[in-house]
Amino acid sequence: MTAAAPTSADPLDLPTIDDVRAAAVRIREAAHRTPVLTSRLVDAEVGAQVFVKAENLQRSGSFKFRGAFNTLSRLSAEQRAAGVIAFSSGNHAQAVALAASILHVPATIVMPTDAPATKMAATRGYGAEVVTYDRYTEDREAIATALAGERGLTLVPPYDHPDVIAGQGTAVLELLEETGPLDALYVCLGGGGLLSGSLLSARSLAPDCTVYGVEPAAGDDGQQSLRAGRIVRIEPPRTLADGAATPYLGTRTFPIIRDLVTDILTVTDDELVDGMRMFASRMKVLTEPTGCLAYAGMRAAAAADPERFAGARIGVVVSGGNVDLDRFAALVG
Ligand SMILES: *Cc1c(COP(=O)(O)O)cnc(C)c1O
Repeated sequence: MTAAAPTSADPLDLPTIDDVRAAAVRIREAAHRTPVLTSRLVDAEVGAQVFVKAENLQRSGSFKFRGAFNTLSRLSAEQRAAGVIAFSSGNHAQAVALAASILHVPATIVMPTDAPATKMAATRGYGAEVVTYDRYTEDREAIATALAGERGLTLVPPYDHPDVIAGQGTAVLELLEETGPLDALYVCLGGGGLLSGSLLSARSLAPDCTVYGVEPAAGDDGQQSLRAGRIVRIEPPRTLADGAATPYLGTRTFPIIRDLVTDILTVTDDELVDGMRMFASRMKVLTEPTGCLAYAGMRAAAAADPERFAGARIGVVVSGGNVDLDRFAALVG
């Protein structure tokens, strides 16, 4: 950073579409260009043409690999040598661990002692060091910050970071490059990294496309924040959508969402399970409950207002597919 007097200085360093495009070039060598799935049965049910960007088929099993790889690619040689740290019990952990192993960066992941064994094993399998903490008595952020200070590690946040947002935006950039302009786009919403990045891409490539964020009904902090015009914090929600159970939006993701989103919708856990069933039976892909937020939001909107969907071209981002098979079976069975 230079100290030149900036007239249009943005204290939050908000990313732009140029950052998304630069991220797309950076991640090309490592990330999958995931397929866009369609189903005539789904189209017939919805009464529209539906294009599903299948990020459940992304490396590490979710779109989070995009933001993680973009962020790690931008570190200096010194930062890379020292290593990175992240706190997460879910997809961000696996994404950072995999991106770090590809880029030969040492990674430390702070996870709760009771995190699912498969997720811990996957994170260790990518070569990361897992540091555990007790989620009832210890503060993960404090532990990560302390370790970062002691060992000189760079903290990689799950959503509130310009490089993370830009990386996440590349999924919708690819989708729109492939489909051309869409009438509406549905994107899941947790902390807002995916939605804010998607908005940057959609506003640039398809300015007339309406864009909806979809979050769990039990954790509707995003909708409340949009209505209130400020970041509203809620108690950690109980929902099947564990990947979107974030109790508040980020200081960077919120202003982008507030300025560019059409609206924020909510769906119930039952609607997510219907989505998992649909993806397995019709599109032959495995999804986690959180991964189905956008589809469930689109489905509910189509049911409520079939007229508006008639003949429309609709995009849906499926965000992840990391789910234990027994859990999947128990939910959809
Ligand atoms: C992290 C995650 C989300 C939420 O993404 P944000 O960028 O936090 O809004 C949604 N779905 C899956 C599968 C995730 O891993």
